Amino acid sequence: MSNTSQHQIACPFCGQAQEVELWDVLDIDETPSLREHMLTNRINRVQCPGCAKDFRIDKPVVYRHRAEDILIHCDPLVGGRTRAEVEADFISGIAELGRLLPPEIEPPEVHLVLEWSELVERLFLLEEGLDARLIEHIKYMMYQQNSGKLPAGQKSLLFNAQDSTDDQLCFVVQDRGTRKLEAVLNFARADYEALVNMFDSHEQYALLEEQFPGPYFNGRLRFLQDQAEA
Ligand SMILES: [Zn+2]
Repeated sequence: MSNTSQHQIACPFCGQAQEVELWDVLDIDETPSLREHMLTNRINRVQCPGCAKDFRIDKPVVYRHRAEDILIHCDPLVGGRTRAEVEADFISGIAELGRLLPPEIEPPEVHLVLEWSELVERLFLLEEGLDARLIEHIKYMMYQQNSGKLPAGQKSLLFNAQDSTDDQLCFVVQDRGTRKLEAVLNFARADYEALVNMFDSHEQYALLEEQFPGPYFNGRLRFLQDQAEA
């Protein structure tokens, strides 16, 4: 099966129609260099032969790295699809996968993200062995504690692995309108470990699952939802 496919697109700047080859599956075991290509934003980028402008086509992409046990499905909200629809499609896709696999094989854990920046973030997070739900729980707390300076409607928080240290987990504040990175917030790794211990038991982890039932976890949206209901 091919990992790319042909698409008819129109340049968002000058409108020129063109046929482009885009990635559907990034198979890192097969082509390790794709990881670096993704991190440097070179996947599904097109340079228009008409106006020479450079842009990324947002489309569904699967990132698969079996050696690291990482499987992430990035399904952007394009073509008028809503988050609820994407989540429902994802759930039925996973159920289908479960039916296709022999009963003795445990289906792999697949992560769902909606934005390219979330795909990069989730990859780093999983490579670091961090818990995606717990990271979103921490973001939720950061919005709660900084409600004046960090309006959840406008600002995203992204875990940043490169600037994290042995002592601190680093989060970058990104404006959702301008996409600019504006500030850095740190969260003590010791506090993360304390939360891991706190949510260690089945009963306790069920509370996190209640806060983030999934398959898509987002501390910012959960915070906005709770605020709207309060
Ligand atoms: Zn163009």
